[in-house]
Amino acid sequence: MATSSSSSAARCRRRVVLLRQPSREVEYEPPMRYCYHRMVASRWTAWTDGNPGRRFYGCPYYYQDGGCGFFAWHDNEFDERANTVIKELLDNIDKLYDENCLLRRVEHGHRLGEEVDSIQSDLRKLRRRHELYDRELRKAEKKFKVAMSLLFVTWVWLCVVYLKM
Ligand SMILES: [Zn+2]
Repeated sequence: MATSSSSSAARCRRRVVLLRQPSREVEYEPPMRYCYHRMVASRWTAWTDGNPGRRFYGCPYYYQDGGCGFFAWHDNEFDERANTVIKELLDNIDKLYDENCLLRRVEHGHRLGEEVDSIQSDLRKLRRRHELYDRELRKAEKKFKVAMSLLFVTWVWLCVVYLKM
């Protein structure tokens, strides 16, 4: 149980990490920048602790293997205050994601609980029906025994009558 909850938290955390991966713009306002491959350089957004949200130009293959190594900042360096605020906001996003994950798990648990209640209620109904059928069966068995006894008595009586004739 602890393993599954920690793995789903990790799943949610990975989503946040994905959000922070450098976003890539291939179209942007001129002047266009070109990498050493002579391709239009993509404009990326850095999410490192030192430069959260700061945009830069890089080879289209920058995040594969560095590409041709072309790199140039688009935004000027943010001041310390802006970096602190952005980092705090990102931390808040992480916290909200974690809370959201937790709430989803709790809601899922509630739904499972409701399903279990419904199944238990069905089970109780089935048990009642089973008891009813069982009672009917026992009554029928009793009637059958009485009928067989009557048949036997009648047969014996017929035998006696036949032997007297
Ligand atoms: Zn390149």
